Amino acid sequence: MPASPSGRLALTTNITDLPGVGAKRAELFRKLGIRGIADLLQHFPLRYEHQLPQQTIALASDFIGPNHGSEANIVLQGEIAAARAAPPRNRRVPFQATLSDGTGTIKLAWFNSPWLAKKLHPGSQIIVAGKATRHGDYLQMVNPKWQPVDPTGKQFTTERAELAEGNTNQSFSARSASSVVNPKLIPIYPATESLPSHVIQQTIDSILDQSLALLEDHLPADFRRKAALISLADAYRLIHRPQNEEDAARARRRLAFDELFMLQLGVMLKRAHRRQTLHAPQLKHGAKISQRIRARLPVKAITPDQARVINEIVGDLEKTTPMNRLLQGDVGSGKTLVALYAMLMAVASKHQTALMAPTEMLAEQHFGLIRELLRDADVSIELLTGSLKPAQRRQILAKLESGEIDILIGTHALLTESVNFKSLALAVIDEQHRFGVHQRATLRAKSTDPKSTPHMLVMTATPIPRTLSLTVFGDLDISTIKGLPPGRQPVITKHVSQAKSLEVYEYVAKRLKGGEQAYIVVPVIDESATQLKSLKAHFDWLTKGPLSAFKAETAAMHGRVDRAERESIMERFRAGKIKALVATTVIEVGVDVPNASIMVIEQAERFGLAQLHQLRGRVGRGSRRALCVLIADPQTEDAKARIAAVVGSTDGFVIAEKDMEIRGPGELFGARQSGLPPFKVADLPGDMALLRMARREAEAWVERNPTLAGPDDALLRKRLMKVHGKAMGLADVA
Ligand code: ADP
Ligand code: MG
Repeated sequence: MPASPSGRLALTTNITDLPGVGAKRAELFRKLGIRGIADLLQHFPLRYEHQLPQQTIALASDFIGPNHGSEANIVLQGEIAAARAAPPRNRRVPFQATLSDGTGTIKLAWFNSPWLAKKLHPGSQIIVAGKATRHGDYLQMVNPKWQPVDPTGKQFTTERAELAEGNTNQSFSARSASSVVNPKLIPIYPATESLPSHVIQQTIDSILDQSLALLEDHLPADFRRKAALISLADAYRLIHRPQNEEDAARARRRLAFDELFMLQLGVMLKRAHRRQTLHAPQLKHGAKISQRIRARLPVKAITPDQARVINEIVGDLEKTTPMNRLLQGDVGSGKTLVALYAMLMAVASKHQTALMAPTEMLAEQHFGLIRELLRDADVSIELLTGSLKPAQRRQILAKLESGEIDILIGTHALLTESVNFKSLALAVIDEQHRFGVHQRATLRAKSTDPKSTPHMLVMTATPIPRTLSLTVFGDLDISTIKGLPPGRQPVITKHVSQAKSLEVYEYVAKRLKGGEQAYIVVPVIDESATQLKSLKAHFDWLTKGPLSAFKAETAAMHGRVDRAERESIMERFRAGKIKALVATTVIEVGVDVPNASIMVIEQAERFGLAQLHQLRGRVGRGSRRALCVLIADPQTEDAKARIAAVVGSTDGFVIAEKDMEIRGPGELFGARQSGLPPFKVADLPGDMALLRMARREAEAWVERNPTLAGPDDALLRKRLMKVHGKAMGLADVA
């Protein structure tokens, strides 16, 4: 029996204390992230394989099919009916034989084993063991283990047990084939070449019973009964040692529920904390304020959609519960104005407000816009980015703390510790997909008044899939702008091969002559000196070639252009003095120059789908019919699908769905940035129903006990803190 130095197994026992696990094997386990007993228990099978006891070919054939799965491990006994040797020295053609047992036949194939031709002849009686797969109407086994039938019948049992290697529990007591197919499930673990699944299985098996006895359940029995969940010990037992599919499914359900429930508990605890403990400044609103704010906005009228989401936001800001709202709307849908409205409400109530953007360029643009709108107003606005001189920075920080600055626009430089507001009432995050959960929390803690928490508005053009809106972003209220401002016409998108790029630019030159402006985007991954060379080369080619007539009106833009230069270029571009901007993806998010109506994207196959949609969103903001040309020779299926999707739709929600199809849900919005541990068992959207239940149960639990302080909650709280405490920032919540 396994034992720690003290002689007893504990969940904390190190794996090296198990018999048969020496330093070398322990190292192999460590590579899989397994150090102790608890890790072993949580090393869940990837899947199960069926292990059938010895039977007839007919029964196996029934079993391996649409009803159960297309493969199973089986043991068969029969006679070689036909055999065909591989041509000599041809390694790619196997030695093939047909096995018959009177009830049916199965094809056998062995690669790299030409010598078998001397051993197996028609008439040979053998036992074979291995994985059988179905190919249309016949079964096949590739490289099965085999042995001749012992005519005396002696030691039959052990020999066959050996045949079924990797399944040490298996014993074949009956000599005759079983008449009922009763498959056993063999767990297949994440493994490595040096530490194969069956060794992991043996190790887990050796500690399973003892460790299950040590497991305490954090869910009370009556809760489990009502939710039809098995106990934790049963779940661990059945995930590793299921008798059948139902066992495995019940184990999965409990473990998946736990993962979803823990996450929901964290979300609900934070929500309860925000609603019951935190207070935000109550902002004023009324006909007069509304009229004054609207008069400042740079448009004739806000759209009905904008009016609706503004209403939702105003409703939140008038309360003392800190708002936590996500504003989603497609590229160009006019989110900035909505944010501006809310920010001006804060200013009208004599509080401070901040806007954080993902790039310096976007921050500068927001700053320019807002400063212009408030030119004649008695409002102090500043811009805080990483490129400020230390003295300027110090000055801004001091004014921020004394309350002299009303509106602060910036990049993630806003998140640095030295940034503190006298009375921050509203923090806005633009393009949330570039930021994670932590940044929200950091910004929220920026008021020097410990009793005051700012309202939070986050904006994104990347719609959040429903599953994520219920998990990582489960505490956000969501407002959606569905349409675009009036007068817009959808962008015409064309895909053109590299070979025709000269024609594209000649056409672009024609339109520039007609007074339009263009972005030309070049893929530059890291803006290193070498990478920027390709931008420079393209710039030179254009200004000497197809765009030579606009040499003086073409500029290059990338992340290394310094601030003064960048601002000057953007100002001239906005004013129409620069006609073509050859740029990296620094212009991807937020940049808003309505007169620019042409975009050419070089090597478009190298961009992600969401990225292409974002880039295209830079044009089509004015009333002119805009054009986006994707120059691409996509080689892979995924790249072709991405290009086709952008050409096929201008709707961000459709694009997001396509993106999910192509990339899979895990890669999408925030999943990576969230910093939360990924699920091991739960699967979304597959476990949507379980997720809803977990959410309901977590909500009810937290309603009963908003801080998990009760004695019954101790174990649950401990486990919750362990999995999510840090990533979700639960320390001051529970
Ligand atoms: P996004 O949602 O992508 O951040 P913006 O806020 O940058 O979109 O707005 C895109 C463009 O639409 C801007 O040029 C903006 O001035 C314009 N716009 C926004 N709202 C309206 C409106 N109600 N009427 C006319 N134009 C509008
Ligand atoms: Mg925007």
